[in-house]
Amino acid sequence: MDNNRLKKCILIMLDGLGDRSFDLFGHQTPLQAANTPFLDHIAAGGANGLYHAAMLGQALPSENAHFVMFGYDMALFPGRGVLEALGAGIPLGPKDVAVLAHFACLHDAEGCLVVDERKPVISSDDVLQLIDEVSGYEANGVKIRFVQTGGIFGIISLSGDVAPYFTDSDPFVDGSALIEISPWSRYRNDPLSENAAYALKQYLVWVYGRLKDHPVNRFRIGNNMKPVNGFVTQRAGQLKEVRPFTDSYGLRGLSIASGIVYLGLGRYIGMDTRKVYDNTDPGDDLAERLGLAIEGLADYDFIHVHTKAPDDAGHTKDPEFKLKVIESLDKGLGKAIGPLMDDPELLIIITADHSTPSSGPLIHSGESVPMTFYGRGVRRDSVMRFNEIDAAMGALGQIRGRELMYMILDHLDMSKLHGIMDTPDDQPYWPGRYRPFMLDTAPKIST
Ligand SMILES: [Zn+2]
Repeated sequence: MDNNRLKKCILIMLDGLGDRSFDLFGHQTPLQAANTPFLDHIAAGGANGLYHAAMLGQALPSENAHFVMFGYDMALFPGRGVLEALGAGIPLGPKDVAVLAHFACLHDAEGCLVVDERKPVISSDDVLQLIDEVSGYEANGVKIRFVQTGGIFGIISLSGDVAPYFTDSDPFVDGSALIEISPWSRYRNDPLSENAAYALKQYLVWVYGRLKDHPVNRFRIGNNMKPVNGFVTQRAGQLKEVRPFTDSYGLRGLSIASGIVYLGLGRYIGMDTRKVYDNTDPGDDLAERLGLAIEGLADYDFIHVHTKAPDDAGHTKDPEFKLKVIESLDKGLGKAIGPLMDDPELLIIITADHSTPSSGPLIHSGESVPMTFYGRGVRRDSVMRFNEIDAAMGALGQIRGRELMYMILDHLDMSKLHGIMDTPDDQPYWPGRYRPFMLDTAPKIST
């Protein structure tokens, strides 16, 4: 009987896949309108439903959604700055605060800084010159440094008596004033958050003063370009204690992704990571990653295969481009999915972390995304196509938050009967790694 059991899971994450309907597609979403024979074939052979990592309508960043999808409580999320630092190999002390930051073009409007261009184009040599000028600072006993993670992007780390509960300065919209850095309401009287907010503010003012007349910027101004003269910051965070993924769910995990934030997330939860690179064809990239996943099945029980391509396409606000990217991913899937679909021990899940609308002002949006479970014994419903609308008529219904990991354990026949305590921790998987009963009756204190 045991031979019939699903034993491993591949979670194929098409980042930002969900979208809205467009007149130009006959009131369909890009995924609905796209020609996706391979995605449809998998949906037709499996159970379908909708997924949202938190509350319906809530627009989630990728890293928060992934964190929950990997079975973790959002309260333990350390902040994107921390994850990018881990992903980029930037050392962080346990009490350090890490803030996402990138260079921008700013101007002084009656004493208030306004962002002219959030993401300016600048050569890598020029960026390095600017970084040289502002990479280290100290204010109020707080040591501050900026470390580049790529191009104009980086991490500002704060070491000293600091906490991460203060506002962003990045307004996200060109032409808007920067946001004042101040502690969150709940932390108004927290000296660590106040100290961090004060020190970061001092640093950002110092950076602006130091860069506005820098030779790089004098040259840019002389050539009709806006000066790259300051940072915008967002999403401060700090390391927290989390239980490793393998201990939490009894599965050996591997994440295959190109973005440093996903590699950082894997490191944060103790999942192995495999760095891959984005080339010109997202479908070929996906096929290559699925090939790596097939190799990984020898050593891992849970493999996350990630592509950022649909999300990036959504951010261009061009629904036709997103449709083309989806069709490319479907072709890539078709090249590699065959052996995975034939594997009698494998549960395949195809889904996304959130919706990324390819029109309108939102960065991400709060509608659910389609989800398919495929594998031997999985309930087969009557859904024939993989998209946001057909999925709603499937057998899985609406799955939310950490339910995904419980559903995975369930399909792998590892779901613990509620109430059983085979280990001192009430873990959701079964059997737990328990201590054998010894005939020796001497009292034991430790577990
Ligand atoms: Zn995402």
